Amino acid sequence: MKALVFDGIERIAHTTVADPEICHPLDAIVKVKLCAICGSDLHVYHGRESGLDHGTVMGHEFMGEIIELGKDVNNLSIGDRVVSAFSTSCGHCYFCREGLTSRCQASQVFGWVQHGQGLQGAQAEYVRVPNAQHTLMKPAQALSDEQSLMLGDILSTGYHAAKSAAIKPGGTCAIVGCGPVGMMAAVGALEQGAESVFIIDSSYAVTNNLSCSNDARRAVM
Ligand SMILES: [Zn+2]
Ligand SMILES: [Zn+2]
Repeated sequence: MKALVFDGIERIAHTTVADPEICHPLDAIVKVKLCAICGSDLHVYHGRESGLDHGTVMGHEFMGEIIELGKDVNNLSIGDRVVSAFSTSCGHCYFCREGLTSRCQASQVFGWVQHGQGLQGAQAEYVRVPNAQHTLMKPAQALSDEQSLMLGDILSTGYHAAKSAAIKPGGTCAIVGCGPVGMMAAVGALEQGAESVFIIDSSYAVTNNLSCSNDARRAVM
């Protein structure tokens, strides 16, 4: 299959790699329809984070269609439209039971292979998803493919940040960083009733005193 692989600092190669295969009864193979670029990809690309093996398939934000399933995955079917979280989770360890799925004891992050160990990413035609029964979700029919793609990291990370800030209706909040996750945090803050949202960025600064949700939405988007 074709994939985008890490080829060193500021080098991404579009090349042919082996197709992923079912390695475990809880795996799924997803045919990727849409994928996104994350700040996590950029850390590696710019050399701020090191350790990734050359040749690793990049990317951990994707949605698509299940084309193959391990024999123990019993809540999904071939042909299902699915979106994935950016890391895998088992659903039954202590952290998963507490809702802290990114701390799952079996967690792996898509697109991180180091010293030959890890999980290939999703900027590719196909991706292997371990613990598919808990890692993949079927988005509601009403959501478009593009909207579904946002659920795996961009929107969920921003919304989680806004929720963690315990914003009160009519309150004020400041968001540091105006990339896609920062913008989704602003949307999350507005959804929770924030009246004033200040968005701060080192190279692009927006300072809006927002009093109306619709105006706020326009300003943010
Ligand atoms: Zn991401
Ligand atoms: Zn777990």
